[in-house]
Amino acid sequence: MPQTRTASHPTAADAPSPEWRQAPDRRAHRPAKAPRLTVLSGPSAVGKSTVVAHLRKAHPEIWHSVSVTTRRPRPGEIHGMHYFFTDDAGFDKLVANNELLEWAQFVGNRYGTPRQPVLDRLAAGVPTLLEIDLQGARQVRAAMPEALQVFLAPPSWEELVRRLTGRGTEPPEVVEQRLAAGRVELAAEPEFDVTLVNTSVEDVARELLSLMGLS
Ligand code: 5GP
Repeated sequence: MPQTRTASHPTAADAPSPEWRQAPDRRAHRPAKAPRLTVLSGPSAVGKSTVVAHLRKAHPEIWHSVSVTTRRPRPGEIHGMHYFFTDDAGFDKLVANNELLEWAQFVGNRYGTPRQPVLDRLAAGVPTLLEIDLQGARQVRAAMPEALQVFLAPPSWEELVRRLTGRGTEPPEVVEQRLAAGRVELAAEPEFDVTLVNTSVEDVARELLSLMGLS
């Protein structure tokens, strides 16, 4: 079982103190029926995509929204699978036409969730997962308060730094900006219904499955 916890992160400190506590499930106010829409959020490099990939390998019935982004593809990323890659003009058009359920600017690039595919899956009763940043999670919370909001936290601040610098996908200045964004995201942990600490991909995926009412 991964740990669950409440947040105890200072906002401005350089290295938020990892004083994790066992957390009550903050969904006490929610109806008992299984949520159909689940939002998975958490700082960059915490391992959200890895958890989702692991989950979907065993449970292909879960639908994962493919986001649109203005970020350039990383080596190995496939258009339509990891993201729909577009340029600023293409993104502007999606925003102007109200085609995004939510969108955010994150460290120099824009990211958004195409609205209609999500609505179609939800109407068909398909368990649906969004993997998005804090700003997007807040927008979904406002628009769809019934969605289950899950925060994926690193085991420690040091581990997040190690993962972000170690993956080597971003230049040092972008790593710094992503870490700065990470501090803000960690401070927002109490906004979420439940927190999973990413100590093991398998454990987190199992816990997420259970939260989605699928195990
Ligand atoms: P990356 O560039 O590392 O793929 O993603 C940067 C951040 O944007 C991550 O925290 C990721 O979860 C988030 N993100 C990916 N897609 C979306 C989206 O559609 N909307 C929002 N708001 N954030 C997203």
